[in-house]
Amino acid sequence: MKKIPLHWQILAGMALGLAIGFAADRFGAQQFVKHWVKPFGTIFINLLKMIAVPLIIASLIKGIADMKDISRLSRMGWRTLALYLLTTAAAVAIGLVIVNLVKPGAGVAQATREKLLRTYAGEAEQRISSAQSEQEKGPLQPLVDIVPDNVFAATTDNRRMLQVIFFALLVGVGLILIAEDQAKPVKAVVDGLNEVILKLVDLIMLAAPVGVMALLAALVTESPSADILTSLVWYAACVVAGIALLVLVFYPLLVRLLAGKSYRFFFRGIMPAQLVAFSTSSSAATLPVTMERVEEHLGVSEEVASFVLPIGATMNMDGTALYQGVAAVFIAQVLGLNLSLGDQLGILLTATLASIGAAAVPSAGLVVLVIVLGAAGIPQAGLALIFAIDRPLDMCRTVANVTSDACVAMVVANTMGLLGEPHERRLDDFYPKP
Ligand code: ASP
Repeated sequence: MKKIPLHWQILAGMALGLAIGFAADRFGAQQFVKHWVKPFGTIFINLLKMIAVPLIIASLIKGIADMKDISRLSRMGWRTLALYLLTTAAAVAIGLVIVNLVKPGAGVAQATREKLLRTYAGEAEQRISSAQSEQEKGPLQPLVDIVPDNVFAATTDNRRMLQVIFFALLVGVGLILIAEDQAKPVKAVVDGLNEVILKLVDLIMLAAPVGVMALLAALVTESPSADILTSLVWYAACVVAGIALLVLVFYPLLVRLLAGKSYRFFFRGIMPAQLVAFSTSSSAATLPVTMERVEEHLGVSEEVASFVLPIGATMNMDGTALYQGVAAVFIAQVLGLNLSLGDQLGILLTATLASIGAAAVPSAGLVVLVIVLGAAGIPQAGLALIFAIDRPLDMCRTVANVTSDACVAMVVANTMGLLGEPHERRLDDFYPKP
């Protein structure tokens, strides 16, 4: 097993999962999958989530404390935010161009439209009301939401990851500001903890092939019927084409031009994280894997990776933004609404901002799409049109979200002279034998 590269093992697990799922569907063994296969997928996701919060805390505190001065932190911060915003806006623009060229909404038959609206009206209603209650809180609420009133409570909810990041950032800054000899023991603890957690990621990834197999098998048995899915095939094709363009062309090109690394190097390094992102549909759950791959296989220094990646996982969602652009225009097309260039630029802006606000968990993009639709004056009930096919698209957009984070980490590291050669670390490196 050891000789087969991890990404091949995971791919084999995925293929097996799909086969088991389709076979179970065919022979009516859905309950078997639910009770005997799916739990292994849940265990795998739980393992990743279990270490995500301690990892964010340890790595961010260490990353910032290592910077030793605040001006370095702010230089890195500005570069990171600028790149995150630029890549996200570019992603929405790519999506809008594709959906305007293909016009997938123009081909959806009236009967299908009514069927979709009827079938998914209830679920759409739920998402709309939860998104609206968020919106009613006022324009400064997102800012208020970043600051936790109780950091321990924040660590118990993946949707409050930004609050944990905020706390860790502050502790890191505090460590820079206190005397070196007082900071030293704290840094040593955080440092060791960080290494232990990255080692745990290695161990958890041994279970990845089984985990993704179970996740995909369960997903196939829980999917809506094929006839509903086929009516949305052109819409899905637009989203997938846009994401493929991002993942296969745009990011590798940025890495090539701005970080000087080859296509092959980039993919070999990041692929296991992409496969985990695809199987879990969650950037937050994938974060430990992304960090391990970016630091140890793409040569990004710990200082950069531990700052750029946790922030990216929560705020930088190019795939989500692209999907929101395509979905908004698609819904408008199906409902026969004309969108002007100004409307589409508005969608570009709101999709970029809404993707920043989306949590790094499954289906988050669908919830914040409500806000994009509202801002563009597209009936929010139209959400029901795209429900059926959301999960597979969620899997794809999460891949783009994670790849974008890795790409930006490499570019930021390169511009700061902190991109080196890949190296797998072992605990022994940190505790040399006497
Ligand atoms: N599932 C995505 C993520 O975690 C967010 C989304 O729903 O688009 O990155």
